[in-house]
Amino acid sequence: MDTLPTVLLKRGEADRIVAGHPWIYHSAIDRLTTPAENGAVVQVKDHRQRFIGIGFYNAQSKINVRVIAHERLSIDQGFFEARIGAALALRQKHMPDATSFRVVNAEADLLSGLIVDKYEDIVVIQISALGMEVRKREIVAALQKILSTRAIIERSDVASRKFEGLPEANGVVTGETDGKVKVNLNGLTFETDLLTGHKTGLYLDQQQNYRLFADLFRRAPGGHVLDCFSFLGGFALHAASSGASHVQGIDQSAEAVAMAQRNAASNGLAEKCSFTEANVFDWLKAQMPSRPHEKVIPRFDVIVLDPPSFTRNRASVPDALRGYKEIHLRSLKLLKPGGMLFTYCCSHHIPGPLFQDAILSAAYDARRLLRRVAVFSQGPDHPVVPSIPETEYLKGFALELMSYP
Ligand code: SAH
Repeated sequence: MDTLPTVLLKRGEADRIVAGHPWIYHSAIDRLTTPAENGAVVQVKDHRQRFIGIGFYNAQSKINVRVIAHERLSIDQGFFEARIGAALALRQKHMPDATSFRVVNAEADLLSGLIVDKYEDIVVIQISALGMEVRKREIVAALQKILSTRAIIERSDVASRKFEGLPEANGVVTGETDGKVKVNLNGLTFETDLLTGHKTGLYLDQQQNYRLFADLFRRAPGGHVLDCFSFLGGFALHAASSGASHVQGIDQSAEAVAMAQRNAASNGLAEKCSFTEANVFDWLKAQMPSRPHEKVIPRFDVIVLDPPSFTRNRASVPDALRGYKEIHLRSLKLLKPGGMLFTYCCSHHIPGPLFQDAILSAAYDARRLLRRVAVFSQGPDHPVVPSIPETEYLKGFALELMSYP
């Protein structure tokens, strides 16, 4: 172990690593004692030569080292079994009834560059770091040992692989599957295609939020719901199965609309749900009056806004905020007094208070007063490590439109 190439950090650069952040940028490094191969394990020391940890080295990436342990361990199959086993135990503790969930959430499970999702008996892996890529065999073997799986699929088609010098990789790694799976979330089934779908197939991060959303209809059945950016019908079906009278879903993808319709039918909810293929921005605009003195008639009791991230980077935040404001402004005009808005933002670059400011600015323009009754985050299978701010991205609010009695 002592023969590992050593990465010496500049003065002042060790603190955030000691605090738990695993990323070491090129600019933080003073020098290497001996050359290291990309993908190899290196040891990291501070400017006074004190040992800090070991990590994967990759000079091609902006992140030169991804720290993997704060002690000298062998990174073999046993290491991955221990880390993945601990990650699985966390999910079993916090989501005992779930059969589909994220098993490994990269940095939040001390495995920077590796995501593992379990969709019933199929496992999907996504690798975004060279250090993980060169250890894929050990990772897959560990997964086979820990999870009883029918197949393991790789969905390493994320743009970030480019920054690590890796090509995209997609396909079945072990076992047999055509990628189609019926995923159970809170007692509802969602058919998705793990070889071609969004993310690694479905948005597991909202699983718990769906349940909190559904509880509302159990407590107060009835009502007309609008689900914007409905995808496979996650929110729509939870509303329909829990007591909503009717749900209108909107998504611009014809494929998503068709799959949401199929999912509604297979859950016996087709009569309560309609899905329309449209751009939400255009659809909401078309609901607004065409003449100056006409008023919008509010007709929804509950509106869900769960768009994709509108930002890829910090520079696009102002545009994204304008987008968020626009959809909130129009949605608020369609919401009945006393109605509720469930709104989510999955951009890491827009923190909760900034997102809320955009909503308040829309509420001001619409002359509406909102009462916040719940705050949402990503589920416990997508845990947040506050010392690693990048692990936090999903935030949401349940807002009630106040009316003066
Ligand atoms: N609410 C969903 C997740 C939404 S993912 C769930 O709970 O599963 C984002 C979805 O928004 C995708 O299905 C995508 O097709 C759709 N989309 C993206 N931009 C859109 C737009 N401008 N108008 C309508 N749909 C859009």
